[in-house]
Amino acid sequence: MDKILRGFEHFQSDVFPHERDLFAHLAHHHEPRAMMITCADARVDPSHILQTRPGEVFMLRNAGNMVPAYTTAMGAEAATIEYAMSVLELKHIIVCGHTDCGAMRAVLKPELAGELPAVRNWLRHASCARRIVQDRFGHEEEEIRLRRLVEENVMEQMVNLHTHPSVASRLLAGAVSLYGWVYEIGTGHVFAYDAGRNEFRPLQPGMPAQMLPRMRTAGNAAFAD
Ligand SMILES: [Zn+2]
Repeated sequence: MDKILRGFEHFQSDVFPHERDLFAHLAHHHEPRAMMITCADARVDPSHILQTRPGEVFMLRNAGNMVPAYTTAMGAEAATIEYAMSVLELKHIIVCGHTDCGAMRAVLKPELAGELPAVRNWLRHASCARRIVQDRFGHEEEEIRLRRLVEENVMEQMVNLHTHPSVASRLLAGAVSLYGWVYEIGTGHVFAYDAGRNEFRPLQPGMPAQMLPRMRTAGNAAFAD
């Protein structure tokens, strides 16, 4: 704890004075550029990875970067997403998973959460990803299955975003874009979902937002009439 308190002391005495103007502006303006939904894992530090400054990224964090479907849980995630869409009118939502994710490892091996009823209950939001990985990659070794699960989970949460009315409406209007990323802790690389190739590939500046094929199908059916 001493290190954390010394860090605050450093912020107050050495950092804040140099950014006084920024904080004076932020005191009355909340205009982030994008929303990021990512894991609570301490090794995932979005402002560090993206080199953003305070005020630029609206964050939603929880174990496993989950987006509970709107109909099953109207909790903190639903409220935060609704605010991001309807009040902040954000145009970009990034769902970002990461390698070596403890939540995803527990999805893969439920016995790890045996004595953690709240965690076990929470991880059900990755049920589709778990089933897909089980059926398609069940024969692979654990680390490969974990990587596939991290990726499938990002896609599952992107699908779940479509169940939130504020997101669905803005998607239909072309007012918001979705991005699916996986942050590789050991290398600092970010892999982005590319719907054209149906795979995650290294993030490049200018990569377009992605619409998952299965979402497109669901969307067409839902919006047909
Ligand atoms: Zn994680």
